[in-house]
Amino acid sequence: MQPMPKPRQSPSKVRARQRVRWRKWSLLLALLMAALSLGLWRFIASHRPQTLPMAHRPIAVIDAGHGAILTDGLLDAGAVWFGLREADLVMDLARRLQAALERRGWVAILTRDGEVTPFSLSGRTALARQVGANVFVSLHLNSSPSPKPHGVSVFYWHPESEPLAALLQRRLSQRLKLRDRGIQRGAFVVLLTATMPAVLVELGFLSNPQEARRLSDPVFRAQAAEVIAAALQEWWAK
Ligand SMILES: [Zn+2]
Repeated sequence: MQPMPKPRQSPSKVRARQRVRWRKWSLLLALLMAALSLGLWRFIASHRPQTLPMAHRPIAVIDAGHGAILTDGLLDAGAVWFGLREADLVMDLARRLQAALERRGWVAILTRDGEVTPFSLSGRTALARQVGANVFVSLHLNSSPSPKPHGVSVFYWHPESEPLAALLQRRLSQRLKLRDRGIQRGAFVVLLTATMPAVLVELGFLSNPQEARRLSDPVFRAQAAEVIAAALQEWWAK
C-alpha cells in the first residue's frame, strides 16, 4: 500500500507557527538581556565608592613621636634604653590608640605608620589643621640620665588644651598606677604650632628599669591606649 502523502500545510498556518516561535525566542532574549543588565548593574553598584555620613564624628590626629629623617641622614629613634626604642614603642601605642578611638566612632589619623614619617614637626600639626582635627595627641616616652625618675606627665601649651591635659594626667596615673608627675606647660614644636587642643603624653620613663619593663609589655600598651581613648571620649562628650 502506498503511504498517504502528508497533507500540505497552508502558507498562513506556517506563518502563524513561525510567529509563535519568534515570540518564544524574543521572550528568551529579553529575559537574557534583563539578567545581563541586572548583573551589570549589581557589578557597577558594588564597585561604586560608598559614602558614609561623617557628621559628629570627632577627628583625632595621633602623633607617634620621632621617626623623622634628620638632616645628617640619621633616623630619629627617640630615647633608647635596654634595647628598647621609644620610636617603636610609641608607634605600637599609636596604632592601638587609633583602633581604640575608631571603636568609639572617632576618625583617627596617624602622622606616622612605620619607622619613618615624611612630616616635619610643624608638618604634623599642619596635617591636623588640614583634616580639621578636633584634637592632636603626641605620644612619647620620657628619659633621664638617672634610672630613678619614673611616672607620667602630660604637656600642653595653649590654655585651651589644659582641661584635656589635666584629665589625661588624672586618668593615666590612676588607671595605670603610674606616678603622677603633674601636667606641665612644654614649648614643644607640635604644641606651639597646633591650632586645636593639643597634648603631648610622656607615658613613662624608658630609662627606669621597672617602667621600661612595663612599657615593653604589649598588654600594658593596650591598656594605656584604652585609657587615653576613654579620656579623649570623656573630654569630647563634655
Ligand atoms: Zn620623645
